[in-house]
Amino acid sequence: MNRPQPIERMIEAIKKMPGIGYKMAERLSYHILKMSAYEVENLIFAIENARQKIKYCSVCFNMSESSPCPICTDSERDKTTLCIVETPQDLIAVSQVKDYKGLYFVLGGALSPLDAIGPNDIRIEQLVERLKEGEVKEAIIATDTDSKGETTALYLAEIIKELNIKVTRLGYGLPVGGDIEYADEVTISRAIAGRKEM
Ligand SMILES: [Zn+2]
Repeated sequence: MNRPQPIERMIEAIKKMPGIGYKMAERLSYHILKMSAYEVENLIFAIENARQKIKYCSVCFNMSESSPCPICTDSERDKTTLCIVETPQDLIAVSQVKDYKGLYFVLGGALSPLDAIGPNDIRIEQLVERLKEGEVKEAIIATDTDSKGETTALYLAEIIKELNIKVTRLGYGLPVGGDIEYADEVTISRAIAGRKEM
């Protein structure tokens, strides 16, 4: 290895990001080294600033500058409908759909027996607490359409039905095995409109 240790260290740190392999981490590291001092400071500031200011909403567990977040405190929204998503990015994707006026709940992942991620590793307990408050009449499960998302949807449906709350799952149009985060507004809008009772 002829590479200076500080560069190697940067590559190793960047490689820990999801979806980034060694080659990409190497490319980004050399790119950062060529950036101006101002650009690098701006990047570091952006990361630190977001880390400092962003927190989890205590109601929906979305990431926000305030808790409760602006969606949860919006009195215009329909409090009887709750859309359950895996991640804050999924919430952003669904929130582009103008026809959806309900509220949200972010699970913080999906059940995955193969990765040893069980019900206690995502926010199922908090979801049940939220539903027991009694305002929600319909829970729309908008987990991903991959096997983890489907497993989670089936698991949640059983629990939610026991609370006498209607459970629906997004319908047609979403690609099988897909991530809600990457679906476009029109697709999600149709999937919500065509939701089916579980
Ligand atoms: Zn919230």
